[in-house]
Amino acid sequence: MKAAETTALPDARGRFGRFGGRYVPEVLIPALDELTAAWEELQDEPAFRGELEALLRDFVGRPSPLTFASRLSDRLGYRVYLKREDLNHTGAHKINNTLGQVLLARRLGKGRIIAETGAGMHGVATATACALFGLPCVVYMGEEDTVRQAPNVARMQLLGAEVVTVTSGSRTLKDAMNEAMRDWAGSVRETHYVIGSVAGPHPFPSLVRDLQRVIGDEAKVQFRDAEGRDPDAVVACVGGGSNAMGIFAPFVGAPGTRLVGVEAGGRGDADGEHCRSLTLGAPGVLHGSLSYLLQDGDGQVLATHSISAGLDYPGVGPEHSYMKEAGLASYVSATDAQALEGFQALGELEGILPALEPAHAVGWLLGGPLPEGSTVLVNLSGRGDKDMETVRRALGEPPSDRPRRA
Ligand SMILES: *Cc1c(COP(=O)(O)O)cnc(C)c1O
Repeated sequence: MKAAETTALPDARGRFGRFGGRYVPEVLIPALDELTAAWEELQDEPAFRGELEALLRDFVGRPSPLTFASRLSDRLGYRVYLKREDLNHTGAHKINNTLGQVLLARRLGKGRIIAETGAGMHGVATATACALFGLPCVVYMGEEDTVRQAPNVARMQLLGAEVVTVTSGSRTLKDAMNEAMRDWAGSVRETHYVIGSVAGPHPFPSLVRDLQRVIGDEAKVQFRDAEGRDPDAVVACVGGGSNAMGIFAPFVGAPGTRLVGVEAGGRGDADGEHCRSLTLGAPGVLHGSLSYLLQDGDGQVLATHSISAGLDYPGVGPEHSYMKEAGLASYVSATDAQALEGFQALGELEGILPALEPAHAVGWLLGGPLPEGSTVLVNLSGRGDKDMETVRRALGEPPSDRPRRA
């Protein structure tokens, strides 16, 4: 019953219970309606599905493998399997979404793509999809982030995208989001705005979930092949929540499977030191929808911190807020230090250097939070190449000869 309830969401107004909706300028409503209708029609259209599936197979490299983590399993007393989104082209799950949205934009006759990015990973995945189809691409990025994430700026530019540096406000992701919204409001007839997580106004939370669901659909079959049943727990890190929603989707409401989302606990629970929107925040509006959010008493969005740039976001997708309140998933956190332990454990025990985002999920598991003998499916959302410098600095090892920035 629960599963049916959940897959029926969002409702016609784009709500997951009280969460979600569309808190956007009036001028964007027709484009959001058009996108909603197009996705409803195209998601089951054989030609569209076929084109997307061929791209996921031939360009991204899907299906991604499911790897049994045997030494980590021995250490923990669990049976741990890793869903290897780190092996996708561009190194993370984000490409599943950007390819789908760019394909959709082409069907809608939109000749220009915009996106916003914090760490740069979504910008790179969007620029990649645009290069593949020869579409012009503009990526908004806060000035702070262009400095912190300089290699990703170079990647986007080499892929032919224009990176627009945003100098307003705190010059980070939320300011880049505002600029992208402003661009879209003025250019909506020819432009599609590729949102990178299960956030934003309806239909983005469900559109991105549906595009990322391929992770869970593959993993469910792979896990059954390996263990003959569904996992006791599915664990994923939660920034905006797209890799988690993607792997959770086919298990939501299944009685024997616990879904666990791991937020970034940063340096501790004080304001500005973490990204625990679901576990320490309160409902509010950000980026066009109502969801849990880190805000002060006046509703101003708080600063955030995480060692992993991809989790450094003050909000979370509205479906996670719904699942939290409905008891369909539980949400926990792992600190920067726990993420580093998770990173080292996977490197030393499994020969895999993960991105710092999914290292939070592994770090949480290292604390032994599940009953002995549990079978666990972990979403390894990305690879660690982008994080080498951060990890070396955090572990106090000699820096590489790449110039460092404060
Ligand atoms: C961007 C990113 C995330 C966080 O985004 P979600 O929408 O929460 O999935 C997690 N892992 C990796 C590797 C990322 O690049």
